[in-house]
Amino acid sequence: MAFAGTFYDGAGFPVLTDGTTVTVNLDVPLQRDEPRAAARVVTGERCGDMNNDGVLVVGAGIAGLALTLALRQREVAVDLVERAPGADGGLAVNLPGNAVSALIALGVGDQLKQIGRPVGRREYRSATGRLLFGIDEEAFWGPSARSRCVMRSELHTVLAAGLGVEPRAATVQSVKVADGGAEVEFTDGDTGRYGFVVGADGVRSAVRGALFGTAGAKEAVLSAASWRFMAPNPGVDCWVAWSGGAGSVLLLPVDDEQVYVYASATRGGPVGADPSWLGTTFQDYPAPVQAVLRHALDRPETLYHSPVEEIRLPSWTAGRCALIGDAAHATAPIWAEGAALAVEDALVLADELAAGDWDTAGQRYERRRRDRVDHVQAHTDKFSRAAGAPIWLRDLLLPVLGPRSYRAAYGPLRKPGR
Ligand SMILES: Cc1cc2nc3c(=O)[nH]c(=O)nc-3n(C[C@H](O)[C@H](O)[C@H](O)COP(=O)(O)OP(=O)(O)OC[C@H]3O[C@@H](n4cnc5c(N)ncnc54)[C@H](O)[C@@H]3O)c2cc1C
Repeated sequence: MAFAGTFYDGAGFPVLTDGTTVTVNLDVPLQRDEPRAAARVVTGERCGDMNNDGVLVVGAGIAGLALTLALRQREVAVDLVERAPGADGGLAVNLPGNAVSALIALGVGDQLKQIGRPVGRREYRSATGRLLFGIDEEAFWGPSARSRCVMRSELHTVLAAGLGVEPRAATVQSVKVADGGAEVEFTDGDTGRYGFVVGADGVRSAVRGALFGTAGAKEAVLSAASWRFMAPNPGVDCWVAWSGGAGSVLLLPVDDEQVYVYASATRGGPVGADPSWLGTTFQDYPAPVQAVLRHALDRPETLYHSPVEEIRLPSWTAGRCALIGDAAHATAPIWAEGAALAVEDALVLADELAAGDWDTAGQRYERRRRDRVDHVQAHTDKFSRAAGAPIWLRDLLLPVLGPRSYRAAYGPLRKPGR
């Protein structure tokens, strides 16, 4: 199989631009953005020892990297396995102020300032370009927690650099709660036993599947799929979204030259897996949108189409196993809270594991995190329901309700998530 055009979707799956998931052929020579062969390497004090009483973290996305770093800072023995190390993590990520605060608490605040670009302002516009409302994000979050847009690969590098060891590859197939720990099976047939196992393995988590089955996964209501790509900045200097009856498109500068583009349905309609959906849906949108679309449609191989899925579970823990990040509570990116919640989860779970009594650490973590996650999911649902209103009514109400809804969603998140 040829790998040209292979990339990773929001769930870390290799996908082609037509939206299909590819099967990895390990005989093919590897390029930089390709998955590596499933050789097992684990990080940490007990490298290579798959029977130990430390923590196994499954998945080196933002959640898994943050947890591994936090555990190492607390001198808790930890191994990290990742099925596709070196994958670029997929384009850019918007980090609202509470994500920035959590990353500062993790000790990478200085490095974060070196990547991406601050987001000083948000603008919500109609499909014709009329400004419906704007938010001074800098004033809202304050100077120490300025929102930021960064390339995911750069954020991964910042987090991985703090580990001081090179992550390598192994794929977990299943996990079983056992007395005083958990037993793990890898796809290459190996098995291991750990004192505590954390599923940080994303929206299609194998750890979650093994512990809780398939319940709790569903398509996002507002937009069951999305298109994402990078393009030269057509002259926007802040977070700007244009929204009409069928589609919404967000442009977000990631540095002086490039914008991150996120295009999705506005009210639950289809998001075609053929790039022509972009051209059709946004054909009458203002000039900056036309400019990025022209760029994108000339380079279809640079476009990412992927499903947007949610996870709602009554519990994230079972014995000495716990889920964090998207594996526990993937939420449609309406409030861009995925990375923030992942890092906050990591900080709290690391504290609880460092405090001792691993039999109850998962429950203590969950008790401390549940309200915050419920809050984000409730506001995601609220926004999705409101988006169902006729567009003329929405455009009429948004100048008043928009800023209120922003404050209601983000206001409580200005307090630390721990
Ligand atoms: C379209 C889209 C746009 C988004 N935009 C934003 C945004 O702007 N801001 C924001 O904060 N959030 C955003 N999110 C959410 C955000 O990407 C995630 O919430 C965040 O990255 C945390 O992810 P994670 O580390 O929990 O999971 P992932 O990033 O999915 O990482 C999981 C890791 O586990 C590995 N893995 C999976 N299975 C196994 C296995 N069996 N064995 C070993 N390893 C395994 C994967 O390869 C991957 O590296 C967006 C999500 C989507 C889908």
